[in-house]
Amino acid sequence: MTRVFSGIQPSGVPTLGNYLGAIRNWVPLQDTHEAIYCVVDLHAITVWQDPADLRRQTREMAATLIACGLDPKRCVLFVQSHVRAHAELAWIFNCVTRLGWLNRMTQFKDKVGKNQEAASSGLYVYPNLMAADIHAYHATKVPVGEDQKQHLELANDIAQKFNHDYGVDFFPNIEPLIQGVAARVMSLRDGTKKMSKSDASDQSRINLNDDADSIAQKIKRAKTDPEPLPEHMAGLEGRPEARNLVGILAAVTGTMPENVLREHGGQGFGQFKNTLTEALIAHLQPIQGELKRLLEDTAALDAALRLGAEQASAIAEPIVARARDIVGFLPAR
Ligand code: ATP
Ligand code: MG
Repeated sequence: MTRVFSGIQPSGVPTLGNYLGAIRNWVPLQDTHEAIYCVVDLHAITVWQDPADLRRQTREMAATLIACGLDPKRCVLFVQSHVRAHAELAWIFNCVTRLGWLNRMTQFKDKVGKNQEAASSGLYVYPNLMAADIHAYHATKVPVGEDQKQHLELANDIAQKFNHDYGVDFFPNIEPLIQGVAARVMSLRDGTKKMSKSDASDQSRINLNDDADSIAQKIKRAKTDPEPLPEHMAGLEGRPEARNLVGILAAVTGTMPENVLREHGGQGFGQFKNTLTEALIAHLQPIQGELKRLLEDTAALDAALRLGAEQASAIAEPIVARARDIVGFLPAR
C-alpha cells in the first residue's frame, strides 16, 4: 500500500484553511493508503512558542485531528518530537541542501518579512526538516495545501542529491496530493494572502473552535468589494476576496464554485454572507462537539499519541539507521 505522510504545526488553533486544504483530505486516505500523520512541534518552535501554550496546543491539535475524522486505529498519529528520527535525518539533510536552494523559498520570505536578521536559523532550514519528516518513512505521497508545493519540490531535490552524492537509490521521489477546490484558502482581510493560524489578526481567519457568534461576526466583517456576485467564474477575475468566499462555500457544501455562482450569482454580499455563515456553523458544529469531548480525557489522548509514536518509530528508525550507514557513520552499537 502506498505510504502517505503529512503534518501540521501546533502553532495555534487550526483554521478553516488547514481543514479544507489539508486535514479534511487526510481522512479518506486512511482507508486507501498507509497513512502517517504528525503534529509537528519541532517545526512550530521555528518561531517563538510559549512552552505552556505549546504543550496545550499540541494536545489540542491532536484532538482536533481526531475530531475531524482521523482514527488512531486506522492511521499512525503522533507528535514529531517523540520520534527522534526526524531531527536526526534533518541534520543530514542540512548538510545536503545548498544555501541557494533555501534562498528561493518563498515561505521563509513571507514569514520573516523585512526583518530577516532576526529570524531563527530553524525557520531557514524548516524545509530540510520537512523533507526529513517525509523521507524518514519513505512516504511517496504528501497531502498538503498549495502553499507547501515549493517545499515538496525541495524535498525531491534533497533526495536526488543525497542519492547522487552517495551513489545510492535510497530516497524515493515524492508527489504532492493537492486536493479540492479549497487547496488555498485566503485571509478574510486580504484575498491575496493565505489564511494562517499564526497570522497576528484573529479576524483574518476562521478557527475550527470559533463559536457561532464569532463565525458570524468574522464573515460579516470579511473584506469584499461593492459589486454583486457574478453569475460565472470569469466574473471573479481580479476579485480575490469574492473568489475566496465562493470557494469556501463550495468546499463546505461539497460542490464546485461554478455551482455556487449559478445559485447565488446576482446576490449582494450581505445575503451571500448569511448563507455562508449558516453553512460554516452547520459544518463545524459536530467537529467542535467531538473536540470538546476528546479534551475532557487528556490521559486517553496522550496514551493514543504514545502508541502512535511507537508505531512511527518502528517504521522510521530502520530507514534512518540505513541513511546513517550510507553517510558513513560508525554503528552506535
Ligand atoms: P503557520 O501560520 O504556523 O505556518 P499554517 O496555517 O500555515 O500555520 P501549517 O501547520 O503550516 O499551517 O500547515 C498545515 C497544513 O495546512 C499544510 O498542509 C498546509 O499546506 C495547509 N494550509 C495552511 N494554510 C492553508 C490555507 N490557507 N489554505 C489551504 N491549506 C492550507
Ligand atoms: Mg504554514
